[in-house]
Amino acid sequence: MNVSPKHLLFTPQPWQLETDRLIPEQAMLEETLFALANGYLGTRGTMEEGPQPGQQSCEGSYLNGVYHSEKITYGEVAYGYASHNQKMQQVPNGKIMQLRLDNQLVNLSDATAGKRWLDFSSASLHRQMHWQSPTGKQILLTTSRFASLSQPNLICQRMEIVAQNFSGDVDLSSLLDAAYQFSPNKDDPRVGVLSLDDSLMLHQQQSTDEQAWMLHQVKDGPFRIASATTVSASQPVDNISHINSDKQVGQQWRFKLEQGVKLIVDKFICYQHDQQMAFGELLLSCQNKLQQARTMGWDQMLAEHQHQVAEFWQNSDVQINGDPALQQGMRFNLLHLFMSIGKNGHCNMGAKGLTGHGYDGHYFWDTEIYILSVMTATNPELTKQCLTFRYRTLDAARQRARQMSHSLGALYPWRTIGGDECSAFFPAGTAQYHINAAIAHAIRSYFTATADWAFMQDMGAEMLFETARLWLSLGHFNRQKQGRFCIDGVTGPDEYTAIVSNNFYTNAMAQAHLRFAVQIAAKFQDKNRPAYQLLCKSIGLNDAEISSWAKAADNMYLPYDAELGIHAQDDSFLDKKPWDFANTPADKYPLLLHYHPLVIYRHQVLKQADVVLAMFLLDDAFDQQQKARNLSYYEPLTTHDSTLSSCIHSIEFAETGQYQRAYEFFHDSVRMDIDNRHGNTEYGIHTACMAGSWMSIVQGFAGLRIRPDELAFTPHLPAHWDSYSFNLQYQGRHLQVSVAKDGVRYLLKQGAALSIRHHQQELTLSSNQTLHVAKVQL
Ligand code: BGC
Repeated sequence: MNVSPKHLLFTPQPWQLETDRLIPEQAMLEETLFALANGYLGTRGTMEEGPQPGQQSCEGSYLNGVYHSEKITYGEVAYGYASHNQKMQQVPNGKIMQLRLDNQLVNLSDATAGKRWLDFSSASLHRQMHWQSPTGKQILLTTSRFASLSQPNLICQRMEIVAQNFSGDVDLSSLLDAAYQFSPNKDDPRVGVLSLDDSLMLHQQQSTDEQAWMLHQVKDGPFRIASATTVSASQPVDNISHINSDKQVGQQWRFKLEQGVKLIVDKFICYQHDQQMAFGELLLSCQNKLQQARTMGWDQMLAEHQHQVAEFWQNSDVQINGDPALQQGMRFNLLHLFMSIGKNGHCNMGAKGLTGHGYDGHYFWDTEIYILSVMTATNPELTKQCLTFRYRTLDAARQRARQMSHSLGALYPWRTIGGDECSAFFPAGTAQYHINAAIAHAIRSYFTATADWAFMQDMGAEMLFETARLWLSLGHFNRQKQGRFCIDGVTGPDEYTAIVSNNFYTNAMAQAHLRFAVQIAAKFQDKNRPAYQLLCKSIGLNDAEISSWAKAADNMYLPYDAELGIHAQDDSFLDKKPWDFANTPADKYPLLLHYHPLVIYRHQVLKQADVVLAMFLLDDAFDQQQKARNLSYYEPLTTHDSTLSSCIHSIEFAETGQYQRAYEFFHDSVRMDIDNRHGNTEYGIHTACMAGSWMSIVQGFAGLRIRPDELAFTPHLPAHWDSYSFNLQYQGRHLQVSVAKDGVRYLLKQGAALSIRHHQQELTLSSNQTLHVAKVQL
């Protein structure tokens, strides 16, 4: 099933996303797709001159991990409801560079020709356009921008101007703009509302010939922010004037253009935040960074940035030969994941990355179940950084557990930025206790893939134990169910069913969590008894409690319907009336925008994978027939209204040998954002889905399973492809796997000999060796 290029919004190209049209209705979508980020900051792909006349825009530059708090107003409040929302902090827009010729703004909507493109290989955004003034003067304008991956406080932007058929003056204003507006959305709960004006309090601002800066205190938040810019040009300036108001600072330059001579103007934009630093110190640090960037110059700044990007591609590239549209989608997704993920242990990854204000910039389980699956297998250091963020917020999770009447342990928030629960709708928020299991799952996967005991000892074990002990306080051994361990009053991943007893996914994931915690406790005692005892002492953990984890895990109640031969999603799901799909018109999806939650909750209908997700994550706990039966029951009831759903179905269809269906679901996720399939990419990318597209190939088609003592594969080649290949890291080794019609090649690029399993066959790979195995499922 190749998508015909004429149905695509962007022409398939392997290493870029390019457009040569200005389609006003598509402008906000492009702002998201062309966004740039580096983990610390993100900025939408808006034009240097600002929005085009009459165009809707959703300007935004954001700092990861920085937020302002807003009190949540409830009509009827109850004890323990999340009290404040932490919203991702927007910062002044430093990208503005407005060029004027004879008082006319050179803007894209008046261009005679032009194109914009995101270059995946260098993580940079470019524009080239021809513009003509009403009197026939022609200008060729080229811009480039990147969010530096080597110096995360910086965005670098270059403008090149050529007067093609005249010589004369142009004015260029460079601004740092704290007054920008954006068009918020409608009644969609998935779209957040952020406001720059309401959240920042100006402390001081200034514009000089060299720099423009603003210092802000975040209202209702502990942060101070410095934003600053500096501009340098390739030729002398004729005249400079300053712009210096509460909302905008900057300069306006007059340049004399010589026909055919290129004027190059470089702008460096710096943001820095802190909770303790005095404003003066913060400003100085920003100014030093800008000075350093000026001294290094554009070329060196770009070279260092590109070095980081090249390393990422070396570790992570996936090649799909035979379908350029899917190749483009895959690389686009990987690049955005890399750009947005928090890299410093102080922040995580928003469901929308750093590309838009959807979901207020919150972090969800999306990170641990989806995004970290990719990172653990390709860039494990990034997984460690995200888990470090969870460790830093463990105290907040402990406090939340107390508030939720659990005398022991930690309960991580369903959605957050700073560590506090921000979900205002508890049935599909706080009730999703499976967030604890998601974090434990990510720790387990990271440890399996890296054997990083230092992380486990310093952070992992404590998180694992504190989250594990919560299950015992939440659940109980139920006499009505032959003494099995039951968990009531929770919501599983499928948000179209809420507050149930014994959600299969939650119970099964809790069981795996508890077992792993028991195993790690034993290993810890063995490896470093004094450190283990110290930890137990500090969190008040004893052997009896650890035994109770094992008992709960061994007796975990996992609902099963013997007649249907399937796992029941929860105790009541199978008793409900099936949703009437035949009489639900296409325009009633997603259901959450057209039906009251109660209407949805009363039916057998799923928003996203639930039991099916458990089958993927807990893999060996199900045999193939069981997987196939569960899948054939639940998939027809699933709307896939969440973008987190298709990829998991793709993997499980591949797992059960239903490759055509696997391919269709993969197809749905890999170009989700480029083709705006869910119609809301305007407000940010869908990072879990992007990660899911990688998972569909690597864990679906290639069947990768990462085990403590081996990597296992069951490769299949989709019929429409000539071949595909991907890269992995495993316990210090670098590996490349290529799947083609004539078989599979495993190359150990770096690291000690390794055991791999290819279907049932055990193979040993030596360093620098390529093994070619003929068997591939077509
Ligand atoms: C999904 C959740 C997800 C959230 C953020 C919701 O629509 O149901 O599972 O965590 O989006 O991506």
